[in-house]
This record gives sequence, C-alpha cells and structure tokens, in this order.
Amino acid sequence: MKINEHFLDLSENYLFSTVGAKVSAFQKAHPDRKVIKLSIGDVTCPLAPAVIAAMHRAVEDLAHAESFKGYGPDRYCYGYDVLIDSIKGSYARKGVRISSDEVFISDGAKSDLGNLLDLFSADNAVLIPDPVYPAYVDSNRMAGRRVLFADANEENGFLPMPDEGVDADLIYICSPNNPTGAAYNRQQLKAWVDYAIRKGAVILYDAAYEYFIEDPTLPRSIFEIEGARECAIEICSYSKTAGFTGVRCGYTVVPKELNRGGASLNRLWARRQSTKFNGASYIAQMGAAAVFTEEGEREIAANIDYYRGNAKTIAHCLEELGIWYTGGKNSPYLWMKCPNGMKSWEFFDHLLERANVVGTPGSGFGKNGEGFFRLTAFGTADSTLEACQRMRELLK
Ligand code: PLP
Repeated sequence: MKINEHFLDLSENYLFSTVGAKVSAFQKAHPDRKVIKLSIGDVTCPLAPAVIAAMHRAVEDLAHAESFKGYGPDRYCYGYDVLIDSIKGSYARKGVRISSDEVFISDGAKSDLGNLLDLFSADNAVLIPDPVYPAYVDSNRMAGRRVLFADANEENGFLPMPDEGVDADLIYICSPNNPTGAAYNRQQLKAWVDYAIRKGAVILYDAAYEYFIEDPTLPRSIFEIEGARECAIEICSYSKTAGFTGVRCGYTVVPKELNRGGASLNRLWARRQSTKFNGASYIAQMGAAAVFTEEGEREIAANIDYYRGNAKTIAHCLEELGIWYTGGKNSPYLWMKCPNGMKSWEFFDHLLERANVVGTPGSGFGKNGEGFFRLTAFGTADSTLEACQRMRELLK
C-alpha cells in the first residue's frame, strides 16, 4: 500500500503546538513565574445563559421517550428547522435572503473549510492570503493542491487585492482576518467577487469573526455583495461568536446559483455531507438555536464587548509604545510589528523570557508574517491589563 505522501510535505508541527511546547518548557524551567497568554485563539467567557438553558432543555428532551432525538432530520442534512430558521433570521437582519436548503449545519468552521475541498479537483490552483490561518494551506497541501499566495503586507494594510495576472480556481478570504485583524470593506470585497466571476473561481469566505465587526459600513457576509451568490461559499461558526469552541457547531451557506463544471455545488455538498457526516449533536444545535434569539444576541454581545475591552487595552498599550499594528477594531486580534526590527520568534522568546507574556509569532502564519506578532483579546480583563503593563515596562 501507499500512504498519501502529501502529508510528508507538511511541516512537522502545527504552529500552536510549537508555541505550546515552548511555553511548557519555559514553565517547567521557571515554575515560580506567572505566564500570561495573549496567544490564545480560544475564548474564556462562559456560554450565555440563554444557550445553557436551551442545552439543559435539549438534555431533558433526550431523557424521555416522547421527546428523544436520534439522527437529525434528513431534509436539511441533519440540521433542525429551529436552528436553520434562526440562521436565516440572522442573515435577514444583514439584508441577506437565503433559503433553508442553502444552510448546512456543521460541527464547526474548521471541518467544513477542509471538507469543502472534496468538491474540487486536486488540479485546481488555490489562492490563499499570506499571512493566514494555517489550516487553509495545510488542508490543501494534504491533497497535493498547488497553492498560490496573495501577499498581505504593511503597504496594503494586510488586505491583498486581486491580481488579474493570477489565475486562481479557489480563493480563500477571511474577514475579519485571523491573524491580522484586518477587515475588507464593501468595495474591496466587490473587487474579489468580480475577479472570481471573471476567472470562474469559487471564493471560500471564512466569516468566523463577523460578530466582532463594529463598523456598520463593513460587510458581515459576502452575500451582502452583489454577484456573490454566483461565486462564493460562506463558512460560519458559533465558536468565537458565542463561545462554542468546546461545544462545536457552525454552518456553511452554499447558494443554489453556484454552479461549476455543469453541477450545482449546493447539491454536491449535500451529497458529500450525507455520505461523510451525520450532523452536529442535538444538544449543540439547540444551544446554537438560542444564540440568535433576542435574549441570546444580547448576552453574546456582552461577551463580545468584554473581549473588545481587552482589544482596546492592548491597542492603547501599543499606541503608547509607538508600535505599528492592525486589527483590534472589528476583530479580537492585534497584529503588531516586532520592535527594534526583531524577527517573530526572536520577539516571542524575548517577551516570554523577559515579561513572561506569550503571543504568536507572525512568521508561523506565512512568510509575510515574519517580523510581526499576533496578540489576542480572548484572555481575561485582569490578565490582559497585567500583560500590557509588563510589555510597557519591557518595551518602553
Ligand atoms: N476560521 C478561522 C479564521 C479561525 O481562526 C478559526 C479558529 O480559530 C476557525 C475557522 C475554526 O473555527 P471552529 O472552532 O468553528 O472550527
């Protein structure tokens, strides 16, 4: 037999495992030091009370023969109507109309971002921004796909725009972006949609951080952009919106107008999911259905405001220190330039050893991330304040 040798082309460790290993080694060597992690992409606020109540009710349903649920309904690839309706309601509030059979419930964005590749030939050229969330590149490399990079840098504010000279078939866009926190405006997204239509390409639009958008002029869904229904798939998640990183639930919207190679991608995705996926758990789906209720939205907004407060704390600190950064507004991520021309891992070690603060080296997100560093607003308010105080002392 032969293994999939493309796995051998991947780097040995996923970025966050390397960061974790370095921090563990430091803590082992210095057990007396209190390390603060501004590196975490995970949330820290507990689930909203409306979500918890809905999940308790769901557990109770499972406890009785009359209300017990097994596999989810076949009709919408195992998504329950109550959840699909609430997602449609959330889109309607953004001025976007979608139909029930365009919504596919998932166990989170990461799985769908990788699994969607099943629909596309390995011959396709994939355009991925650099720097970016590492899972996009790795999941394409695993299938041996050719990866092209769209350079994001200080000059373009880490928001690369389409280049007519590049022929891409699949395009990843993540806005607000992980790791840079930069978010596209309407005109910029329209340029990407027009480019995708001209090239016959498909955009995989990762909207995992859309709930962090504060600026009402910024689009929260690619389907707010004219033409997107013919060229885009949107991948969403309750992870950062509502603290579901441990619960696991998300959704992907595949519009019915999206056809390639004479086939409806909506139908292909339904076929793929019904073959390889058996749905997100009933408890997770019922909890998720509570997120976009009036009560749920009010409660998750309070959690997001808490993280926004942390983002402001970090932003003030960087401004005081005269350090260039993007993000922090419309995003839980701040993307800073390493001081004194330091390289990303050099600054990582400096900050860990001297201030006992952990961030994520920008170079781990792509070559254009070299010399940059990602900080996140997902910690507690107290630890964020303390980390900033330590950074002020170290870097002033
Ligand atoms: N997309 C981006 C850009 C992310 O940063 C993350 C998680 O950090 C995900 C997707 C994964 O989300 P989920 O927890 O829904 O799998």
